[in-house]
Amino acid sequence: MTDPLAALSAVDPQIADVIQREVDRQNTTIQLIASENFTSPAVLAAQGSVLTNKYSEGYPGKRYYGGNVVVDEAEDLARRRVCELFGADHANVQPHSGANANMAAYLALLEPGDKVMGMRLDQGGHLTHGSPVNFSGRLYEFVAYGVDDETECLDYDVIRALAGAERPRLIVAGATAYPRTIDFAAFREIADEVGALLMVDAAHIAGLIAGGAHPSPVPHADIVTFTTHKTLRGPRAGTILCREQYAAAIDKAVFPGLQGGPLMHVIAAKAVAFRMAAQPEFRDYAAQIVVNARALADGLADEGFRIVSGGTDNHLMLVDLRPFGVTGKVAQEALDAAGITTNKNAIPNDPEKPFVTSGLRLGTAAVTTAGMTEDQMAEIAGLIARVLRAPDDAGVIDEVRDAAAALCSKFVPYPDLDH
Ligand SMILES: *Cc1c(COP(=O)(O)O)cnc(C)c1O
Repeated sequence: MTDPLAALSAVDPQIADVIQREVDRQNTTIQLIASENFTSPAVLAAQGSVLTNKYSEGYPGKRYYGGNVVVDEAEDLARRRVCELFGADHANVQPHSGANANMAAYLALLEPGDKVMGMRLDQGGHLTHGSPVNFSGRLYEFVAYGVDDETECLDYDVIRALAGAERPRLIVAGATAYPRTIDFAAFREIADEVGALLMVDAAHIAGLIAGGAHPSPVPHADIVTFTTHKTLRGPRAGTILCREQYAAAIDKAVFPGLQGGPLMHVIAAKAVAFRMAAQPEFRDYAAQIVVNARALADGLADEGFRIVSGGTDNHLMLVDLRPFGVTGKVAQEALDAAGITTNKNAIPNDPEKPFVTSGLRLGTAAVTTAGMTEDQMAEIAGLIARVLRAPDDAGVIDEVRDAAAALCSKFVPYPDLDH
């Protein structure tokens, strides 16, 4: 068998070059996007395998086509490992993405037009939690809860009152930009009080939960969905966990309800990631992500930024840029030029439009995978402040880009992919 990248170069030098330049970008610039990570060479190997060739509509032991005895083992391993990792009754590992996992959960639990409560998108919720431009907002009647204006945290009494007034069929807990611990037991109580089902979308924090750095939603929720590529550090995909009573409905919703053939190469890669997340080292990793997030938030606060809600309990933080007089858009672009990859993000009650924003969302999952610790977080906070004090100064941007490259050269995520 030839080296796959060499084979690619021979067939398509342009795409081979794109991949090599993306390796270089990931190896030489600082990655602070809270939803990203550096997956392992083992996951990449499984994902780049011939399992992509196999059609496996159905589930292990009950497939529509022949020839599935081998790949059945991969899906069984993935399901068993993820149930053990999270202490769940049942798992469906076929969703192609987090959005698909959520769509399947809604398809299993709801009828079109049913009322659902989810977190406001401009305060940390996800598109699939009721955005009018998303299927969720078009098919279901979403009612949104937000954060308290003063504390910028969830107020469970306010959520309880809203649930009592609205009587939703389903409550969705979970967020894409919320820096604090979510109290899943409180959500369960509220759901029980109003006779609602509880779904937790743990996309961002799945790795923290697996590593013991965030309380688990599994004992409290009817259904838990998550992505496998964020803090969990696996391939880009989704997974659903549920109580036994919803197992058949969930499996039917994913296939044939929503998807065709599963991506067996990605399912194998998920199995690898679940195995790695069950190792003792992963607990250390999850704990270090949180330590690093606190150190970065503290460093930025010392530089004069305002940290939304006053800090972070998890892997991410929202940075209010208004003390520096720059918007999220300007900050993201200036930092990009300086070799620091971030995303602009609305802060609660943001006066700017969603494409401009007053904030940045920063996360530490990727830099922690690369091996960075608190000292590097302090250094990164200083680099961010230097750029955002002078976002138009080409000299400063050049200096910071050199400093970022020097820092990354000591923490290279993919040394073996460097050609
Ligand atoms: C990332 C995310 C998703 C969607 O994941 P995709 O794989 O991008 O579809 C869903 N919900 C939440 C809360 C997320 O953060």
